[in-house]
Amino acid sequence: MSLRFVRAFSSANVLRANYGFIGLGQMGQHMARHIYAQLEPLDKLYVYDTVPEATKAFVENVTSQKPEAKSQLTALDLIPKFVTGVDSQLDFIVSMVPEGKHVKGVVSELVEAYKANPQNAATTFLDSSTIDIPTSVEVHELVKKELPSFDFIDTPVSGGVAGARKGTLSFMLSRAEHSDVSPDLVKLLNFMGSNIFPCGSRHGAGLAAKLSNNYLLAVTNLAVADSFQLAKAFDLNLQHYAKLVAVSTGKSWASVDNCPIPGVYPENSLPADVGYQGGFITKLTKKDLVLATDCAQQYDRALFLGDISKKWYLKACEREDLGTRDLAVLYEWLGELRKEGGEYVDNKTSEKFDI
Ligand code: NAD
Repeated sequence: MSLRFVRAFSSANVLRANYGFIGLGQMGQHMARHIYAQLEPLDKLYVYDTVPEATKAFVENVTSQKPEAKSQLTALDLIPKFVTGVDSQLDFIVSMVPEGKHVKGVVSELVEAYKANPQNAATTFLDSSTIDIPTSVEVHELVKKELPSFDFIDTPVSGGVAGARKGTLSFMLSRAEHSDVSPDLVKLLNFMGSNIFPCGSRHGAGLAAKLSNNYLLAVTNLAVADSFQLAKAFDLNLQHYAKLVAVSTGKSWASVDNCPIPGVYPENSLPADVGYQGGFITKLTKKDLVLATDCAQQYDRALFLGDISKKWYLKACEREDLGTRDLAVLYEWLGELRKEGGEYVDNKTSEKFDI
């Protein structure tokens, strides 16, 4: 029985919600943990990950923190069980998986399962993964064609693993206004985050905002790395320069909140203070930049800094030690490069390359 149905028809005025969560990785394990932590007594949560160890670790972790809600949590071992292995129809199923092909696979399986087991009410699929817009639109059209009363909404997030852990994520939704987001959906998103941004009425608007923002992040991060290396070449005191930038026109998230110079904001223990460990890794920045530049092409928009930035990120990610550390590490990397003739030389690996 759906949340809406219970709200509308229960004479006892009992509220209950049934949630599903798919993908318990770096982000999803925390997002699902916040849902579990805030379940009301009659609510249920069903979780699944393709890696059984991830599901098992999740269940052990959250039930040790809140044992009294153990009976409200069920680990599923197959996607169709979100339809056939639940007490009553789920109100929302959130996916947080790596790429578009995974989202398409997951939702197609759900659609098949629902078609084989028709339900009385509608389920809303939320996809918080960062994927390409055309795949998300295709999945939306599939849901609308096969299960017209159901919905599939792109709800990508910003805030990274730290935001997921703290439950302070920002959600970007393909909805025109706040008033277009149902109270039940607001409630669910507020379990996991602290901001909801309606980005436009067309499906894919949430992803469009996410990719536009992360394109800006990737480009400004590269420019910040270059600027700080220039300041270094000028023999400036980099800590003083960083403080100047923080109140000047070069101010940005990449130059201040994620300053690449160690020791400028020790109180914040930024990735730069711990060897660029943690944070938003270069590989994920590259992934989003590639998605943004590919989608721009499909929307007939030239990204003037897109191709050149993409080449730098692709090159950086060939080195595992750069790809797996915070994106501010590009500052360190640019310092390891020199130009010889028309080529760049990586002092650390002695590799010569062209961009
Ligand atoms: P992750 O690789 O840590 O986790 C993904 C999880 O999905 C894994 O546990 C994997 O086993 C599982 N999975 C893969 N295919 C699946 C399937 N078909 N069914 C069920 N589970 C499946 O990735 P992440 O860092 O948690 O990121 C997830 C998504 O969120 C990505 O699209 C990423 O770009 C986006 N994102 C990540 C961050 C970040 O800082 N890590 C920030 C914002 C958005």
